[in-house]
Amino acid sequence: MPKPDLFTGTAWEKPPRQKPRVMAHVADAGVDSICFECPQCGWESGWIDYDFSLTEAKRGIPCENCNKESNHEQKSH
Ligand SMILES: [Zn+2]
Repeated sequence: MPKPDLFTGTAWEKPPRQKPRVMAHVADAGVDSICFECPQCGWESGWIDYDFSLTEAKRGIPCENCNKESNHEQKSH
């Protein structure tokens, strides 16, 4: 009788429902613009208008590169 094998199960095939988003953090900031860099992949937002509150800037913005890959599964809801 075959033993159930945890590692060939389907548990790991499905990504968790809520994938933690990869956030790019502030790499540099000027007066009017700010630059974010992703610690995961090195993606840089480039200089964008400083349109954030300080809190938002500190938290970072979602990395376009890292979050692009999960776009397949994330249908707009
Ligand atoms: Zn990234």
